[in-house]
Amino acid sequence: MGSIPWDYVSGQQTSKHAVVIGAGAAGLVAARELLREGHSVTVLESSSIAGGVWAYTDEVESDPLGAQPEKRIHSSLYRDLRVNLPRQLMAFADFPFSSQTMNSTSVDSRDYPCHQEVLAYLQAFTNAYHLRPHIRFGATVVHVSPLFPACNGTSANGDDSAPWPRWQVSFSTGQQDGSQAAASTSHIETDAVLVCNGHYRDPMVPAIPGRHTFPGQQLHTHNYRSNEAFTGKRVCVIGAMASGIDISFEIAAVADQVWLCSRTWPDTVSIGEEHSALGIVNLHAMSPPEELHPDGGITFRGGSHIRAVNVIVYATGYRYSFPFLDAKCGVSVNNNRVGPVYKHTLVPHLGPSLSFLGLPFKVAPFPLFEAQARWVARALSKRISLPSIDDMLADIERWDQDVHSRSWPLRYTHMLGDEHWDLIEWLNIQSEHNTSALPEWRRALWQAAGAQRAVAPQKYRDIPLNADLLAEAASDGIKAWH
Ligand code: FAD
Repeated sequence: MGSIPWDYVSGQQTSKHAVVIGAGAAGLVAARELLREGHSVTVLESSSIAGGVWAYTDEVESDPLGAQPEKRIHSSLYRDLRVNLPRQLMAFADFPFSSQTMNSTSVDSRDYPCHQEVLAYLQAFTNAYHLRPHIRFGATVVHVSPLFPACNGTSANGDDSAPWPRWQVSFSTGQQDGSQAAASTSHIETDAVLVCNGHYRDPMVPAIPGRHTFPGQQLHTHNYRSNEAFTGKRVCVIGAMASGIDISFEIAAVADQVWLCSRTWPDTVSIGEEHSALGIVNLHAMSPPEELHPDGGITFRGGSHIRAVNVIVYATGYRYSFPFLDAKCGVSVNNNRVGPVYKHTLVPHLGPSLSFLGLPFKVAPFPLFEAQARWVARALSKRISLPSIDDMLADIERWDQDVHSRSWPLRYTHMLGDEHWDLIEWLNIQSEHNTSALPEWRRALWQAAGAQRAVAPQKYRDIPLNADLLAEAASDGIKAWH
């Protein structure tokens, strides 16, 4: 393993203490960036393992729709999941997702590896940056509250006229993972809280008429693990984003018939250009369901009807959830818009003392987490300054208007897609990061991989990627690592 590029700062900046909630990819890179900036950090993690959503479990919840489970399971992965982004795009910028950094822990060297490889990568990252001593496992954050009212000043930079609050973070231990030990609550006072609790564990299920009298099984993808139980069944999968498409292909391999529904499709079109060549004659694309019937039938927009459906799988996404945030923080979730958050990260009147990593979706998450974390860490130490509160609020307002003018519903507020590369670049510039310009291969590989996924949704993971782009990515990763 090469040497770790530690770049602790000179001591001119203010060193703070921060609590990071969650030890998934976002929390881990947050811890690294905070430590690099000279802060001290406590990561509080509910489970007993680092890696977050990548810590796969066979276990599912008592309520298959995930509305009121007796015990919430964090990971939403399915057993045979392979990543949907090339590993080169998933990697943190200076820690290549390859044998260089993972050594013998790598289990799958493909460009689109199985999920176990991602967990191995995150654990290699944890070890390489000596993060484990900073993580408290089995600690569930239950309450986060500012210790004095937030300021109303015009500066967000923490000067005397507009101080940021300190925080009290309460967490419980002893009741997670089925432990018999009695729960106890502890408290930490801290200068900053970075919320990295993940956004793929609280299922969203649409209220389709007839849902409560439909006689078949209904589950959310959060509680889907593998296809065996679907053998010979007639299955409707609602939602055709990444998981919905993947799971439809898996289920179609054993089911009698599968109907995959998307808001944007007309009735009865085939999925993917290679549909018939692959012989997936039992997989049909449909418009969204409008009514579920007590005899097991489903009526779709446009009037098509199918009968005797045994199972409905909701691939309808997840809701943001921050059950621990005190109302005094002034942050709310409205139709899956978290607000107010400047650049999808900071609450303007709280400066860098409260931040959210990883709200944006349809992105390459790890590089975005990394850029967000560096920005927050450097704002916290006052190495860099933030705009005034008014300017930050105006920026949020501009983005909201943009969302409105695109005729997007509020729940798309954090859907960035291609634009997240601009955000990463902007964050790097703000952070005065030495590699602020984004290497061209990143956007190019993102586009190329997206195009392959669109034309070959079942096979794209095994289609070779552009060799020149991969070579550039590899050489870039090595340079940043050394
Ligand atoms: P998580 O990984 O969810 O981690 C959050 C952590 O916070 C968890 O460890 C949890 O236990 C902890 N936590 C939560 N609440 C509390 C609390 N109150 N107190 C203490 N700890 C708490 N991304 C890709 O880049 N490529 C892919 O191919 C890809 N595929 C995906 C497939 C599926 C099915 C899903 C669900 C997601 C996929 N993602 C993929 C996105 C993935 O979520 C992100 O890559 C990333 O791992 C999220 O990291 P995170 O740290 O934000 O959240």
